[in-house]
Amino acid sequence: MATGTALTEAEKWEFSMNSENSRLSTFKDWPFKDDCLCTPSKMAAAGFYHIPTDQQPDLVRCYVCYNELEGWEPGDDPWAEHKRLYPNCDLLKVMKNRKSLDEITVKEFMELECKRQQNKVRAQIEERVKEFRQQAARVRAQMELL
Ligand SMILES: [Zn+2]
Repeated sequence: MATGTALTEAEKWEFSMNSENSRLSTFKDWPFKDDCLCTPSKMAAAGFYHIPTDQQPDLVRCYVCYNELEGWEPGDDPWAEHKRLYPNCDLLKVMKNRKSLDEITVKEFMELECKRQQNKVRAQIEERVKEFRQQAARVRAQMELL
């Protein structure tokens, strides 16, 4: 019986972002290279993957908290920026006193995965609410013309 729970290619891709190597592979057109603090490998190690758009060529997302950051400077430290802007991210809590994600336990990995799914749903709901508000504003503007 088909239940409709099979993952789409986009969902599979997104799920794979829990791997540092998968995140690193997204930074192909990343402008900050060797002489910068925010190199692709440091970005991927800090939980980010690259999701560029035409207006936001340096947009990245954290695979755990789902928050997005842009406007990177060569001297920006990915972990420091992550901590400064999103101090409640569960990835930061797990990484406290650790140097690499390779050091986390299976239990911590599963807990992060759980938080990640919660944050993904939250981000999707926030996006829907934003779309609804924009649509409501457009309808209101049209009604005021009547
Ligand atoms: Zn995060």
